[in-house]
Amino acid sequence: MKNVLRLTALALSCGAAFSASASSTLFTNVDIFNGTENKLYEDHYVLVENNLIKTISAKPIEAGDAVVINGEGKTLMPGLIEGHGHLQMNGSSLPDIENNRNWEELAARSAARAESALMSGFTTWRDAGGMGAGLKKTIDSGELDGPRIYPSGAFIGPTGSHADFRNFNTPNETFNGPISSGGRLGMSCTADSIGDIKACARQNYMQGATQIKLMSSGGVASSFDPWQLNAYSLEELKAAVEVADAYGSYAMSHAYSKVSLLRNVEAGVKTLEHAFMFDKDVAKAMKENGTYMTTNMTAFSPYLGEIEAINSNPASARKAKTAQAAFGGYIENVKKYKPKLGFHVDCVGGVAACEQQADHSIYLSGKFFGNFYTLISMTSVNGEIVKLSGETLDPYFEGKLGVIEPGAYADILLVDGNPLKDLSVIGANEKWFDAPAREGIDGIKLIMKDGKIYKNTL
Ligand SMILES: [Zn+2]
Repeated sequence: MKNVLRLTALALSCGAAFSASASSTLFTNVDIFNGTENKLYEDHYVLVENNLIKTISAKPIEAGDAVVINGEGKTLMPGLIEGHGHLQMNGSSLPDIENNRNWEELAARSAARAESALMSGFTTWRDAGGMGAGLKKTIDSGELDGPRIYPSGAFIGPTGSHADFRNFNTPNETFNGPISSGGRLGMSCTADSIGDIKACARQNYMQGATQIKLMSSGGVASSFDPWQLNAYSLEELKAAVEVADAYGSYAMSHAYSKVSLLRNVEAGVKTLEHAFMFDKDVAKAMKENGTYMTTNMTAFSPYLGEIEAINSNPASARKAKTAQAAFGGYIENVKKYKPKLGFHVDCVGGVAACEQQADHSIYLSGKFFGNFYTLISMTSVNGEIVKLSGETLDPYFEGKLGVIEPGAYADILLVDGNPLKDLSVIGANEKWFDAPAREGIDGIKLIMKDGKIYKNTL
């Protein structure tokens, strides 16, 4: 009956330029940052129908029985997208996760992290390893509030790599790592042969991963691997990419060194993670192959050594120092060659620590590369990156993400000010560890995901 009435209402309003159904929201009096252009479209109207953006206009839109929200001149922009996060990696360090946290605590904390992410304006989250699709499914079913999640499943890396969670004394009877807690919980998958790499990749897709995450070079926060390590050979990377291709998906790869970066591009990896030794040659290879990269800006913060995941482990603290010294050319090279760079916080920790790290990351990116480059990295560029998961595996296949345009998902923020001039409206904070605890972001007045409003303080 309700549907019949709605159809009648639509029929009656057909003389108007646009019409709307009962599940519509009309934003009036907003300035639009569309996620791609370095400008605002002033005093516009945006009509959301169900979960998608239907119409954008400089002229009034006939809204029928839509809920009307007067934007009061605030900026309407795409919901933010985390390009490389770890919701389930919520202990204070890798050894803490491995030794002190069971599944129950990790799961409960990941739910809290997901809610905090959404309430900080992140409506989409590419998880860069350490979780399957369980949290994602729970959020999508409406049982829990959180962003859309593109999970990578277990990290895939060789013995002793950045993906190896074991302690020095953990036995390794099978050479496949399942006796680490991280292995048992599906957070890591240790793979030393081409067959094992393919099996780990297939296992992740079976568990609902939308892309796979490789640990193809050493890291800072892990125990056994020098960051200079080129952990996987070209043949091994190609094997992983072959499985990803078979699923119509792609591989993302943790890579620091130039050798590793070039090797990954050659193997067909689509997103380089961290990519600290990015330079002219890497830029050229990326351009030729349509490769993206995402980088954690906190690697260049003077406060890096204060991260608990690093300073609680003397080997990591030492690695962080040499790494920062070796990555000195990164910022200038990005400014010069302008790669397709996605925003990336990469926090390992609990809610409060990760809120601080995200806010400081936005600040650092703005400081290094300017507000526009930062904003597109958090919206349209990361929107393109998540869609690399391909038509078949993309769980959110109905529309684009990270842009304000007709047909895109209605993942929308209303912010109090112009983010192109001031990133603090979306949370940017010069302070990191000494930033005060917060409840959401004051400058974000409204948060809509999938057409549903989660916050409205207008
Ligand atoms: Zn990471």
